[in-house]
Amino acid sequence: MSSADQNAGSEARYRRRSMWLDLIDEPLEPRAALPGPLDVDVAIVGGGFTGLWTAYYLAKADPGLRIAVLEKDIVGFGASGRNGGWVSPFFPASLETIEKHHGRAQAIAMQRAMFDTVDEIGAVCAAEGIDARYNKGGVLNLATGTEQVERVREEPAYYHGWGVSEDEIMWLGVEAVRRRIKVAGCLGATYLEHCACLDPARVVRGLAHVVEKLGVAIYEQTPVLSIEQGSAVTAAGDVRAEVVVRGTEGFTPELPGARRDVIPTYSLMLATEPLPASFWSEVGWNDYETFTDGRHLYIYAMRTEDDRIALGGRGAPYHFNSKVRDEYEQVPAVHATLEAVLKNLFPAARDAQITHTWGGSLGIPRDWFPSVGYDEARGYAWGGGYVGDGVAASHMAGRTLGDLITGRESAMTSLPWVNHRSPKWEPEPLRWIGVRTSLAVLASADKKEKKTGKPALRAKLMKKVLPL
Ligand SMILES: Cc1cc2nc3c(=O)[nH]c(=O)nc-3n(C[C@H](O)[C@H](O)[C@H](O)COP(=O)(O)OP(=O)(O)OC[C@H]3O[C@@H](n4cnc5c(N)ncnc54)[C@H](O)[C@@H]3O)c2cc1C
Repeated sequence: MSSADQNAGSEARYRRRSMWLDLIDEPLEPRAALPGPLDVDVAIVGGGFTGLWTAYYLAKADPGLRIAVLEKDIVGFGASGRNGGWVSPFFPASLETIEKHHGRAQAIAMQRAMFDTVDEIGAVCAAEGIDARYNKGGVLNLATGTEQVERVREEPAYYHGWGVSEDEIMWLGVEAVRRRIKVAGCLGATYLEHCACLDPARVVRGLAHVVEKLGVAIYEQTPVLSIEQGSAVTAAGDVRAEVVVRGTEGFTPELPGARRDVIPTYSLMLATEPLPASFWSEVGWNDYETFTDGRHLYIYAMRTEDDRIALGGRGAPYHFNSKVRDEYEQVPAVHATLEAVLKNLFPAARDAQITHTWGGSLGIPRDWFPSVGYDEARGYAWGGGYVGDGVAASHMAGRTLGDLITGRESAMTSLPWVNHRSPKWEPEPLRWIGVRTSLAVLASADKKEKKTGKPALRAKLMKKVLPL
């Protein structure tokens, strides 16, 4: 095969990874691979948001640092180039959990830092000329069935108890929701103002160009085989570094010694063709709110700037021994369910063509508590375990690592997720049995609730045991 054919093959493979990567108007031809051994100050493993925001904030803090990013495929190959586009303000561990370990003030500080990051990402992208397609319209949690009303309605009071004001989060009745967006069967919603949406592939790829201009070297098609003290080991040779940063999220279990660090969980997505003006004049959705609803098997949606709906959800199977493979990203039964969900919520889109289906793996730590940290003695730093809420959190991780590695104390470095250590997941086959059972219970609880119109207790109980 000629190198032109090889490039065409890899370009097609990369474009297939998501609608965002498919539609981006730049070639996805890989940058050069690492040619041989290298000495740097900081080696960053993974060219996603975690790796690149870390490179960005390090290079800004100390322009003299020699920084190399090592990416096994291309920048944005992972979840950062495929996600649901929400700049999510949610931290997966509950505020009670943070309070239990760090106190109430720290729980509130964590939540506030997440809220602030939603704005910060918009501001940095604008300042750096990144074509983020960022729109801050808040987030709606819709009650799309009587069984969901109670749990969705509880949310504003819950957050008010944590100092979030009534202007920031509120319950909207049926008519108030309809003024924003018309969703079939919606009985009201919680609205939180701190959420935005963006085009993740444009952000991650744009960020790579920005960090290169700051002097960071990016090597693509360079898998790191292992992370050792003082080096990242690759087939082309070792990258010796004072600090090695791991930003591999859903791929982490593939690294030696990390099989049980996070569970790689597939989230699957689809997008419609651009929908006509008649659809939008009927449905509204003029402020680009992101939305989810109160079902157990989580869904998430946004309106794109080119007038598509991008919608995703859980339900893809977990694969034994935490394996991660390209072929796990297409699950026709789950994509068909997501299409049915979309068309039920928007009957006016019933004839819309689904132009893209895709998926990607995200990382779930055993305690659902994301973390960022730096072990100076070992020269090892990391950020990850964001569950499905990593767009804002990975930006915070990058800012935090920029401060930790350059030895600067800041509001970021004292947040409660810094240097948190999650327990490991159970060995197989317990992991497989637990995750599969949990997913099945949540799916059946949704079915049962739809039938009875009442909340299912089983799902609540199961969430406490295995919160998937
Ligand atoms: C389908 C989907 C939808 C999502 N939706 C949202 C959302 O709407 N909002 C939100 O906040 N979050 C969402 N998330 C989560 C969010 O996208 C991630 O948390 C975030 O992008 C993680 O960034 P990262 O850089 O840590 O990991 P990734 O973007 O996965 O990057 C890791 C990179 O490391 C590379 N890599 C892995 N192993 C190696 C190795 N050994 N050597 C070299 N390179 C390696 C990979 O190729 C990859 O490019 C979603 C995730 C998925 C999969």
